[in-house]
Amino acid sequence: MPIKENLNEIQTRIDAACKKANRNPNDVRLIAVTKTFPAEAINEALSVGVIDIGENRVQEAEEKFPDLVTNNKVCKHLIGHLQSNKVRKAVELFDWIHSIDSIKLAERVNRVAGELGKHPVVLIQVDLGKEPTKNGIDESELNDLAAYLATAQYLDFRGLMMIPPFFEDPNATLPYFSRLRELLRELNSQKICLKALSELSMGMSQDFEVAIQAGATLIRVGTAIFGTRSKPIVTL
Ligand SMILES: *Cc1c(COP(=O)(O)O)cnc(C)c1O
Repeated sequence: MPIKENLNEIQTRIDAACKKANRNPNDVRLIAVTKTFPAEAINEALSVGVIDIGENRVQEAEEKFPDLVTNNKVCKHLIGHLQSNKVRKAVELFDWIHSIDSIKLAERVNRVAGELGKHPVVLIQVDLGKEPTKNGIDESELNDLAAYLATAQYLDFRGLMMIPPFFEDPNATLPYFSRLRELLRELNSQKICLKALSELSMGMSQDFEVAIQAGATLIRVGTAIFGTRSKPIVTL
C-alpha cells in the first residue's frame, strides 16, 4: 500500500487548498480514517508521521487498538455514531468523540468520563442533509445541546461535525460546509460557551478541498490514504 505517497499527495492538496483559501495549513488537521483496514495499516500510517487516527465503530477500534490505547502520542477519534451501550468503551478508547447528537448521549458520556477520570474532546454532529440514514442532531436542537455541553464538567466541547449528502460533484457540498461554519459562528456570537468554539470536522476523500475552502479544521480522510475499502461500510 503506497500510504506514504498518498499522504504526501494529500498534504500537497491540503497546502494548495489552504493557499487558495488564504489559510494556514497548520490549522487543518488530517485524520487518517482506518475503518475496515487492519491494525497494520494504522501502524504504517503512524510510522510515516500520522498523529490522528479515526474509526467509526467502537467495537472495531477495540479489536484494532490494543497497542494504541496507552499510546498518548496518537490522537484517537471516534467519527461514527455512538450507541449508548458503547459509551464506556468509547471513552476508554478515544480522545475525541465527533458524534455527540443528543443531550441524553452527552450526559452519559460526561458521567462515564467523570468515572474514568477522563476529559474527552467532543463535537456535536449536526444533520444538515436530512437523510434518513444519517445521524446527527437537527439544527433546531443545536443550541440546547451546546448549552448542555458548555456546562458538562468532564467534556471539552470544541465545535461541530457534519457529513454532507453524497454528490458526484464535490463542489455541490459547499453550501453544507458553509452552513456548518455559519452555525459555529452563531453559537459563538450567542456566547453559549465561555471559550470560543473553534473546530469544524468536515470533508472526506471526495471533498476535503471544498471543506477547507469553507473553514474545515479537521478533515477525515480514508480511501485517499488507504485505498478502496473492500468490506462493505456499515452505516448505522
Ligand atoms: C469513512 C468515513 C470517512 C472517510 O471517508 P473516505 O471517503 O474514505 O475518505 C469520514 N468520515 C466518516 C464519518 C466516515 O465514516
